[in-house]
Amino acid sequence: MGFCASCGYTLTGNENFCPSCGNKSVNGNNYTQSKKTFSYEFSSKLILGGNVFTPDRLNINQDGVTFLKRNKYLIGVDRSFLSFSDISYVKVDRRLISSTVIISSKGSRGIRAENFSISDAKKIEKIIRDNR
Ligand SMILES: [Zn+2]
Repeated sequence: MGFCASCGYTLTGNENFCPSCGNKSVNGNNYTQSKKTFSYEFSSKLILGGNVFTPDRLNINQDGVTFLKRNKYLIGVDRSFLSFSDISYVKVDRRLISSTVIISSKGSRGIRAENFSISDAKKIEKIIRDNR
């Protein structure tokens, strides 16, 4: 339960919009955002020390973040998925020429994506913060 930020109407929290004034961004829910679909893909940079055969990949869409990482035996890919609601924080550990994106989860294991370019890491951080 909450109140419409625009007119103060009492909301149950299940509304897509305020029944009183029509405000679509009611009480912190992201109905308007989550209906939009989008998809971004980022790859770790080979020249920065990422795996030569398959770079690690980070996909972000409207549902959350998927991290695909070649496992250490090089026989498969470890896939981790975090929905935006599971993410407790995201931060970028910035090095000289590359960055590690650390995505922390409330429940399960988080994601640690290494060797991404600094500009990609910043984009990843912003997309997650905007959708969380
Ligand atoms: Zn309202």
